[in-house]
Amino acid sequence: MPFKRNVYARSVYQEPAPILDRDNPFQSMMERFDIAAEILELDPGLYEYLCTPARIHITAIPVTMDDGRMKVFEGFRVIHNDILGPSKGGIRYAPDVNLDEVKALAAWMTWKCAVVSVPFGGAKGGVICNPREMSPGELERLTRRYTANLIDVFGPDRDIPAPDMNTNEQIMAWILDTYSMHARRTENAVVTGKPILLGGSQGRKEATGRGVMTVTLAAMEELGLRASQCSVAVQGFGNVGSTAARLLAEQGCKVVAVSDVSGGYYNPNGLDIPAMIDYATANRNSLEGYQNADPISNDELLTLDVDVLVPAAREDQITEKNAPHIKAKIISEGANGPTTPDADDILNENGVLVIPDILANAGGVTVSYFEWVQDRQGYFWTLDRVNRRLDRAMRTAFENVFAASNKYNVSMRIGAYVMAIDKVASALRMRGIYA
Ligand code: GLU
Repeated sequence: MPFKRNVYARSVYQEPAPILDRDNPFQSMMERFDIAAEILELDPGLYEYLCTPARIHITAIPVTMDDGRMKVFEGFRVIHNDILGPSKGGIRYAPDVNLDEVKALAAWMTWKCAVVSVPFGGAKGGVICNPREMSPGELERLTRRYTANLIDVFGPDRDIPAPDMNTNEQIMAWILDTYSMHARRTENAVVTGKPILLGGSQGRKEATGRGVMTVTLAAMEELGLRASQCSVAVQGFGNVGSTAARLLAEQGCKVVAVSDVSGGYYNPNGLDIPAMIDYATANRNSLEGYQNADPISNDELLTLDVDVLVPAAREDQITEKNAPHIKAKIISEGANGPTTPDADDILNENGVLVIPDILANAGGVTVSYFEWVQDRQGYFWTLDRVNRRLDRAMRTAFENVFAASNKYNVSMRIGAYVMAIDKVASALRMRGIYA
């Protein structure tokens, strides 16, 4: 069967789309999908099915603001695929979140779950809002109404949200409560990343950063590097970036640079990461004004002479412009989609080992799965058990992706896509099409 590159995705999503929009995260996901689909010689029908979101929900969320006025926010929930199990994925609150971004993030969740063998499909949510400008009361009303609007979408056997950018345990607690009020019983398995007291898992908060640490150490071993010899730069100091920085420092790495929206912070002798975490916690989660470091720009941070670079901020940070200047030997993608397809080519050519997002940041959804299992059993694990199982899952996934990339002689990113798409496609073939 002849394979036509990206023809379906373009006709479905980009009408009319004569030029490939390289800033569109869904297109950038599709570019990698296409390469993997070609390697797998995916049947065109299967190709179309796997790149089309199963369901897209767009919802208006009216909120009474503190000044008494009503404001209407726009919210999304995209279910990309639920072939392997209930769909799973976080909810992002951001002023510039858009449907294409959420669609890409939902698809990445499908592939991510398959890479770490978590029996979930992929989904993602987003609400266009600026949480920094909203009071806790406004955020609560927004969250509850978003949940109520999607009450038939969510469910422990249907679709299970989690935290993502600018959403946290408290927001998960409000989702749990709203869902439970409608269900007339407490249903803690409807959401993950919630407070431990409400059925959250030990270790969930650190899980994504911990997974980044585990696969980074595995990559260092592959390259014959020791943690104590390695310097690290981390872009982003939210939950993922700060935890990855702290844990890599605990492993003996020298973390010389971190950044957040307030700017970059550099110290060639190594930053005091625990002190920076304390500072940010006391400063509305911002490093603004932190003194014990030299300021550097975002581009300087990305192109520093370090062994490991951890992009843990947002999409499209490593581009064809800065990729040629990147000196890191390992890039460990804490964020979703931080590297553009063009940059991928340059990094490959330069021999940089990129641990792709759908592997590197899969620790979060892995412990989300553990949390869901614990909620459904009503039996909770120790932190030690969670961490041991997480480390094992991440190590195994790293080895599998590494083996796939060697087998097909492709980058680890394409290896991961091949592995994930092959799994979901095989499951679909077994299930067949219900007509
Ligand atoms: N938002 C996280 C991610 O992008 C976690 C999703 C989850 O735990 O469901 O992987």
